[in-house]
Amino acid sequence: MNKKRQICILGSTGSIGTQALEVIEEHSDLYEVYALTANNRVEQLAEQAHRFRPAAVVIANEQHYDKLTQLMSDLPDVKVYAGSKALDDIVEAGPIDMVLTAMVGFAGLSPTIHAIKARKAIALANKETLVVAGELICQLANEYHVPILPVDSEHSAIFQSIVGEDQNPIEKILLTASGGPFRNCTMEQLQTVTKADALRHPTWDMGAKITIDSATMMNKGFEVIEAKWLFGVDAKQIQVLVHPQSIVHSAVQFQDGAVKAQLGVPDMRLPIQYAFSFPRRLPLSGERLDLFAARNLEFLEPDMKKFRCLALAFEAILKGGNMPCILNAANEIVNRAFLEDRCSFLQMSDVISETMQRCTFSNNPDYDTYIQTDAEARRIAAELLQG
Ligand code: NAD
Ligand code: MG
Repeated sequence: MNKKRQICILGSTGSIGTQALEVIEEHSDLYEVYALTANNRVEQLAEQAHRFRPAAVVIANEQHYDKLTQLMSDLPDVKVYAGSKALDDIVEAGPIDMVLTAMVGFAGLSPTIHAIKARKAIALANKETLVVAGELICQLANEYHVPILPVDSEHSAIFQSIVGEDQNPIEKILLTASGGPFRNCTMEQLQTVTKADALRHPTWDMGAKITIDSATMMNKGFEVIEAKWLFGVDAKQIQVLVHPQSIVHSAVQFQDGAVKAQLGVPDMRLPIQYAFSFPRRLPLSGERLDLFAARNLEFLEPDMKKFRCLALAFEAILKGGNMPCILNAANEIVNRAFLEDRCSFLQMSDVISETMQRCTFSNNPDYDTYIQTDAEARRIAAELLQG
C-alpha cells in the first residue's frame, strides 16, 4: 500500500483550513494530517486535533499555549507548540509532504519560505505571500524544485486550463471577479457602506479579511499580482472581468486565440482538492454545475474609479520592487481598521495610496527589505488613519 500523503495545514481553523479538512476526511485513504496550526481559536484547534490526531499542533499566539496544553492533555502523543517561530519549525518536519498555507496576511511569508527550503510542496492559499514577495518565492521554489499549487479558485482555474500546454505561451489571462457586494453602488453610496454590508458577500463564504478585500476589489488586485508570479506573465497581459455569477472561475487565451476556462459551482473544496491531488482528479461530493439554470453569464469591465484599490494594485505591480509589499501592509492596516469601525470604505484606498507615496521605495528588495518595508508601511498607514 502506498504511504498516505502527510499534510501540514497553516491556519486550519479558518475558512480554507476547515474545508481542507473536509477534503482530507473524504479521502482519508490518501491523505493524513501531520500538523494543524491556528492563531487564536484554541478550542477549535484542540477539537480538530482530537478528530484528526496529527503529530503536532501549533498555536501562533503564545498566550493560548497553557490553555492548549490543558485541552490536549488526554492526547500525550500529539506535540503542542506555540509562537510564530514554531510555525517556521513545524513546516520543516521530515514526514511532511505538503504544506497548505491557509493563514491570513504577511504572517504567511516566513513559514512559506521555511517550507520551500525544506522541499515541501506548497498548496498556496495565502496570496499575500506572493503579493509581498512573489519574485523571491518563485526564485526559491525554482532553486529548491518545489511545486507551488494554487488554491485560489481563479488561479486553480488558470492552472487547470494550462495542463498539457507546457510548450504554449499564454497570450492573456482572463481573471474573473464576482464584483463583490458593492458592484452596483454609486460613489455616493460607497461613502456610507458599513462592514456589515461588506461582510455579506454574494457568492463566496470566506474569512473576514478577504471578504473586505473582495468588497474593495483589492482582492482582485492581489490576484493579478499572484497570477503574474504563478504563471510568469506581465501584469499587462491580465484582464479583469467582473462576472457576478462566479461560474467561470477564470480563463486563459493562447496565441491562436483559443480560450480555455474552468467552470463550476462556487465551492473552494475543488481547488483545495486539486492542489492536493494534481495531476489526478478525485471524486468530490456536492452540487454540480447546471448550465441550463445558469442561463445568464455576464462579463463586465471593472470600474477602477469606484474600486480604486484595483487600480492601486496594478500601479504597485507595474512599479515593482517593494511596492506590492507596501500595498499589502497598508491594506492590512486599513482592512483591520474598517472591520473595527475606525476607517470608512473610501478612506481605505486614500490611506493605501498615500502610504505608497510616502514609504521608502526599494527597486531590488531581499527578505530583510520586505520585513523593514512591511513595518514602515504599517506605521505610516496607522499614522495616516489617526489623521
Ligand atoms: P480565515 O480568517 O477564515 O482563517 C485564517 C486562518 O489563519 C485561521 O486558522 C487563523 O487562526 C490563522 N491565522 C490568522 N492569522 C494568523 C497569524 N498571524 N499567524 C498564524 N495563523 C494565523 O481566512 P480564510 O478566508 O481561510 O483565508 C486564508 C487565506 O486564504 C488568505 O490568505 C486568503 O486570502 C486566502 N484565500 C481564501 C479564500 C476563501 O474562500 N476563504 C479563497 C482564496 C484565497
Ligand atoms: Mg480568488
